[in-house]
Amino acid sequence: MDFHFSEKEEQFRAEIREFVKENLPPDYYGHRFEEEGEDEDWEFAMSISRKLARKKWLTISWPEEFGGMDASQWERAVFREEVGYWGIPGTSMGISGTSWVGPSLMLFGTKAQQEQYLPLIAAGEPDGVWCTAYSEPDSGSDLASLQTRAEKTGDEYIINGQKVWTSCAHRARWCWLACRTDPQTPKKHQGLSLMIVDMKSPGITVRPLRTIYGAHIFNEIFFNDVRVPVENLVGTENNGWAHLMQALAFERGGSINYSGMLRRFLDELIVHARDTGLFQKPEVRQKLADLSVAIEGLKVLAYDSIWKMSKEIKVIYESSRDKAAADRLHDKVSRVGLDILGAYAQLDPLHKNSRWTKLKGTLEHLYWISPGLAIAAGTTNTQKNIAGQFGLQLPRAY
Ligand SMILES: Cc1cc2nc3c(=O)[nH]c(=O)nc-3n(C[C@H](O)[C@H](O)[C@H](O)COP(=O)(O)OP(=O)(O)OC[C@H]3O[C@@H](n4cnc5c(N)ncnc54)[C@H](O)[C@@H]3O)c2cc1C
Repeated sequence: MDFHFSEKEEQFRAEIREFVKENLPPDYYGHRFEEEGEDEDWEFAMSISRKLARKKWLTISWPEEFGGMDASQWERAVFREEVGYWGIPGTSMGISGTSWVGPSLMLFGTKAQQEQYLPLIAAGEPDGVWCTAYSEPDSGSDLASLQTRAEKTGDEYIINGQKVWTSCAHRARWCWLACRTDPQTPKKHQGLSLMIVDMKSPGITVRPLRTIYGAHIFNEIFFNDVRVPVENLVGTENNGWAHLMQALAFERGGSINYSGMLRRFLDELIVHARDTGLFQKPEVRQKLADLSVAIEGLKVLAYDSIWKMSKEIKVIYESSRDKAAADRLHDKVSRVGLDILGAYAQLDPLHKNSRWTKLKGTLEHLYWISPGLAIAAGTTNTQKNIAGQFGLQLPRAY
């Protein structure tokens, strides 16, 4: 096993770090999902997104014809790792187009859909911002039970139903919608489809939902007789479950980003412990060393998945395995971090610019968001079910 990156990949890493120096404030950490909250953060994220797009980094692994760089799996990994480490904004949920909508359209979208939507995503402009509407009030982990109905009438589908926890719906121009096109099937996994919905369509209402600590990341969406042209169906009608599983596998493959992010937090905690003299305490040194071991473990899991993809080995359960590991680690890093920061850690995570806030509130924020990270894109239990079924050949959980 050789964990060294090539000279070309190392040069690319240096180029990304140069970009960070030139474009991000020196004490910038980035708060995951947070850029979708305040207008000011959103504008900054979009400005970075456009700059990344000009370098073709935003959609780095896409073919050049769609605005990408045709990068290798390992170049993409270097990019994602640096994005996580430096908190480079403009690449997360709101731009979900880059991570799963675009790659899914390349796999099972029509040529017309590819030509219309991929360049918009790759340009990093507001018209390339997507939200993903899967979850419903009674369908989360049991996604196949979703009820939002798309009824075909002539050359349109009429959509009725409700979605919930839709990140970035208040910013998005397009919605990647999972819906039921045939309600009469014997099994709930059948009769589902994926659609592209213009968020400016009449009949759509978006209502904010606040997180446990008050941020506006996600929303409810209500669809009331929303008309969608039939050409916005993605893939094959009623084959949505297979398409959804593929799109979710793209979504869950982000652990290299998380290992980069957690490494940065650890590095900053080490600096803090050194500056404050906490280094003198053996238990603090033990805790920091323990985190380092765990973060390195997550990185190796992520590298294993990337290595398999680079060898064109089909990855089935690996992204779920890696996400389950990342979910646990977010919680662990935040708890150790708050212990080390002491009373400062009680500050409101939304007051990241307070003079009392250490490390721009990054660890307080991680503490509050880590339960959400363990739920988003499928809960840790769901990931374990997938790893158990496909990795260990255990009986299925549903
Ligand atoms: C930060 C964040 C962002 C999100 N963004 C989006 C988004 O953009 N679009 C979107 O569609 N959704 C989004 N979601 C919603 C998310 O996908 C769902 O919350 C998630 O799938 C869980 O569904 P649920 O909330 O209905 O919980 P439930 O499915 O009701 O689960 C409740 C509990 O039961 C456990 N459980 C359920 N079934 C099983 C089982 N078979 N085996 C073992 N345990 C089980 C779960 O692990 C969980 O602990 C987001 C959520 C968060 C927190």
